[in-house]
Amino acid sequence: MGLEGIVIQVIPQKERDLIARVLLREGTAIGVYVYGGMGGGKNSKPRLFEPGNMLRMELRTGKSGYTSSETLQVVAEQTLLWQASHIRHDARGFALACLYLEIILKTALPYAADNAKATQEHGGLFNVLSNGLFHLDQALAKKDLAWEVHLILFMAKFLLHLGILPDENECVFCGCELKDEACAPLVPQQGGFCCSQCITQVEGPLEKESPVRALLAQAVRTHFQDWASFPMVPSAINTQLIQFWCFHFQVKLPDLTSYKMLS
Ligand SMILES: [Zn+2]
Repeated sequence: MGLEGIVIQVIPQKERDLIARVLLREGTAIGVYVYGGMGGGKNSKPRLFEPGNMLRMELRTGKSGYTSSETLQVVAEQTLLWQASHIRHDARGFALACLYLEIILKTALPYAADNAKATQEHGGLFNVLSNGLFHLDQALAKKDLAWEVHLILFMAKFLLHLGILPDENECVFCGCELKDEACAPLVPQQGGFCCSQCITQVEGPLEKESPVRALLAQAVRTHFQDWASFPMVPSAINTQLIQFWCFHFQVKLPDLTSYKMLS
């Protein structure tokens, strides 16, 4: 059985084997065991299972079949479909790619072969990741990386796909129209923005002076390939969007290790 996907995590095993998590085209993540996957050896085979690489894999048919999502599938053959050329040579770019992969790793549901059709709805997750990595590599090729712009485009498309994108038009409390309130604060616990009247209902600290609503709305409407024309994004805005996702997926921001590498 052939499957295509992007490697999101690699864990070395024994001397030259590895376990990888791969985000499949249909948007779920499969765990695979790759004998000799670390490369090297007598024939100095290249290591294809690198985080961020897009591969085609043939899985070994075995007694267990493919029905369980818990057991690791064994890869019989692999072909490299795409690999970034510049990401590994740039510390910021590398950290951003790691953040994309880490966020996807914490989000994707496990693959289940008997459920492959039913899970087509997650295909958007694969598109978000592959576009994010491809355009990050393009920006690095042109030596023109504004990482905050790439991250807000990624987060906007990611939240949209997950169906938790905050509604830019209405206050999440009273439902009033948020016309010109570019700086309407984002309230993760409520899943949306809050108008100036309802702000008193919010407990705890809020970012009140940052144009998160305006920039998020623009990022939703901007194609990934148009990153070069996007305005500067304060990094605090990305932090708010990541915290928003963290809240919905019960992740603690300090546990997101690659975000620390970026900021
Ligand atoms: Zn309101």
